Amino acid sequence: MRVAVIGGGMAGLSAAGELLRGGAEVVVFEAADRPGGMVGSRGEQGFLTEDGPNFIARPLDALLDAAGLRSQVVHTQGPSTRWVHRGGRALEAPGLSFLLGAGMPRALLEPFFARPLREDLSLRGFLVQRLGARAGSLLATLMATGVYAGDADRLSARDAFPRLGALGESGSLILQLLRRKKAPRPPLWNLRRGLGSLPLALSAGLGARLRLGAKVALLEPVGREGFQVDGARFDAAVLAVPAQAAADLCRPFAPRFSGALEAGFTSAPVTVLHLGFPQQEVPRGFGMLDADGTLHATGALFPSSMLPGRAPEGQALVTAICGGARNPHYARLPEAELVAAVRADLERTLGIRSAPSYVRAVRWPAAIPQYAVGHRDRVRAARELLADFPLLEVAGAAWDGVGVPDVVASGAAAAARLLSKVSRGPLGGAAAIRQARG
Ligand SMILES: Cc1cc2nc3c(=O)[nH]c(=O)nc-3n(C[C@H](O)[C@H](O)[C@H](O)COP(=O)(O)OP(=O)(O)OC[C@H]3O[C@@H](n4cnc5c(N)ncnc54)[C@H](O)[C@@H]3O)c2cc1C
Repeated sequence: MRVAVIGGGMAGLSAAGELLRGGAEVVVFEAADRPGGMVGSRGEQGFLTEDGPNFIARPLDALLDAAGLRSQVVHTQGPSTRWVHRGGRALEAPGLSFLLGAGMPRALLEPFFARPLREDLSLRGFLVQRLGARAGSLLATLMATGVYAGDADRLSARDAFPRLGALGESGSLILQLLRRKKAPRPPLWNLRRGLGSLPLALSAGLGARLRLGAKVALLEPVGREGFQVDGARFDAAVLAVPAQAAADLCRPFAPRFSGALEAGFTSAPVTVLHLGFPQQEVPRGFGMLDADGTLHATGALFPSSMLPGRAPEGQALVTAICGGARNPHYARLPEAELVAAVRADLERTLGIRSAPSYVRAVRWPAAIPQYAVGHRDRVRAARELLADFPLLEVAGAAWDGVGVPDVVASGAAAAARLLSKVSRGPLGGAAAIRQARG
């Protein structure tokens, strides 16, 4: 089976690896001049900065082994203090005064309010119902901001946070958390030379099968005989691109699928602003989330406090995630304006006064898909609209979870579905492909 993987982000690279292991021939088409999509790193002036993700929450051992990078894993270290910007002040969380101020006494009554989770509840709607207006609303804002740079009133409690959804469906959140055996959480991790070294190593394994600077303009089904991808013939294809790109490519032959993506799949824009400051001015800890929604950055991370080798001696790195669903216009500000605004915010909240010794901005006009209420149903419906094309699969952050481990799993699952459709045929090979095509 000859498969075109369109998109060389982590979902596409994962799909390509799985397909190769299953014996398929693969070509990966990637529009950019480097692989990895949102996962990329840059080292300059002694700073090591990430284009997108900074911390991976779950292990990816098999992928790291395939890339030969297991020995390069670095776990977070040092104090992981987090601050919350609330009521115009940076408060250390979760200090007692913070928790009481956030309505903790009412939150503890949650077992008495444990109604089954309704699938149409927003994250804020659900958590307010359970924990009360103050604690529920604050927790919803922090979760939406921290994971999606999102809006707690639009994100689905069930679909944007499946583990919370599962707890919500089976009773009291607090009682279930108390009853659970306390398994230690796996530590957050990155790689010694940055997360970008992962797609680089994976793509080295692909060799000439990876085409960079190859933005696919035309994906065309050829009857039931496969697909033409920019003029080349393939038996099957994996679309591992953002929702808008998938909609554009499928519009000529699957207009209802494209329409569904355009109507229901949205993303929030983000500009990642890296700033270098004298070390003594930057607090030691994980970072700060903006609960008020009044700062230019929905969150500011302190990567050099948590990971080795992120800033030169005597300096510290602050990574501000600007814009997001609540304030998308901040992500679009010209760089000088954004730097001035973030500096003013950092001075007011954390007392960081110096001019930055290092500035780098990375813009993502459609950064993080927003899993609004009904996301799971929209995903099912959209996939069904591709039922006429059984050898076309979709994968990536728009579909099955936005974290890097989610998109890696999504790419691998798309590849496995293709492989199983083909191997199910009794004759194998070309006959099986014909059979899978229907
Ligand atoms: C600022 C930021 C911070 C994040 N932080 C974290 C974090 O801390 N932890 C975490 O786990 N996740 C984080 N994420 C989320 C995670 O990085 C992404 O969800 C994930 O990397 C998306 O992978 P993907 O392969 O689905 O999509 P992408 O990375 O978007 O890859 C899609 C690829 O398709 C290519 N493409 C598009 N159109 C075409 C075309 N027509 N032809 C060929 N190629 C095309 C694009 O160039 C791109 O390379 C963060 C994301 C951002 C933006």
